[in-house]
Amino acid sequence: MLALVLEPNRQLSLREIHIKEELGPRDVRIAIHTVGICGSDVHYYQYGRIGPFVVQEPMVLGHEASGTVIEVGREVKHLRVGDRVCMEPGIPDPNSKPTRLGMYNLDPAVRFWATPPVHGVLRPTVVHPADFTYKLPDNISFAEGAMVEPLAVGMHAASKAQIKPGDVAVVIGAGTIGMVTALAALAGGCSRIIISDVWQPKLDLAATLGPITPVNVTCQNSTEVVMESTDGWGADIVFEASGSAQAAAGVFELLCPGGRVVFIGMPGEPIAYDVVAAQVKEARVEHVFRYAHVYPRALALIASGKINLKPLLTDRFAFQDSVKAFEWAARMPPTSIKAQIELPQ
Ligand code: ZN
Repeated sequence: MLALVLEPNRQLSLREIHIKEELGPRDVRIAIHTVGICGSDVHYYQYGRIGPFVVQEPMVLGHEASGTVIEVGREVKHLRVGDRVCMEPGIPDPNSKPTRLGMYNLDPAVRFWATPPVHGVLRPTVVHPADFTYKLPDNISFAEGAMVEPLAVGMHAASKAQIKPGDVAVVIGAGTIGMVTALAALAGGCSRIIISDVWQPKLDLAATLGPITPVNVTCQNSTEVVMESTDGWGADIVFEASGSAQAAAGVFELLCPGGRVVFIGMPGEPIAYDVVAAQVKEARVEHVFRYAHVYPRALALIASGKINLKPLLTDRFAFQDSVKAFEWAARMPPTSIKAQIELPQ
């Protein structure tokens, strides 16, 4: 099949690749419709690795996907040919201890699309377990369906934060993950979000998404803004979605006594934080890695209108322009949030 393939020497091309996929009794075959370009895809394209994951064999990119069911395994009950769906890109070992404990995102044996050596889905079809395939409500487009994957990260972070109605949250970083975290936190009960970034166009967009106050850290002090707008108390929750060492070092300054910090962004290098600053506020610190059991809730929030992802879908490319799309994404302008690739149907 024709796929967007990244070679170990980081050459990227649309080329034929043989991927043998047999349909098991509990699988579905899906014609891929839309695939989002994620920071991790671009990172593999630019550097050939993320931490311990190294591209050593040709690998198809892409893991944020939606499509249409074209074949159904004989034991599948909840999906039919023609159903529009989105898919969880990580398939855990169902019998592993983390999976049995309900933390299947932490299963070391998880096979995650476009994480070496597992192929991604910038290709016409994929076979996937029906249990990790979700029907899209009629009012959710394929483009929104492909955004459920990043939204799931924000939803998982919002759950970890144990939001109480009326909480004020800070989100550091206004990229895709920062934006969806802000939307998930508002949907989860936050009254207000203060979002910080260095790029004004991203902040301008964020400000249109709800009760969200933008802070440009190149010319504003986020601690001052947070303290002014909370009567000197601080934010109930700080979501760190930038991965920046400098931002991480300052999270407790923004926080109220007894508040919660959730680390979402993945720093390229190990970073440090001030334990005493956390202790004097008895901060609760959480970390998230991907998500588990979130897709149905994410779809329900989009379908109900509580979360609107459409303003984040800024750019679209045709499948035949995939290489161009990645070259563009490697130097994405700050006016863009999420770029997606649409496959021919
Ligand atoms: Zn992603």
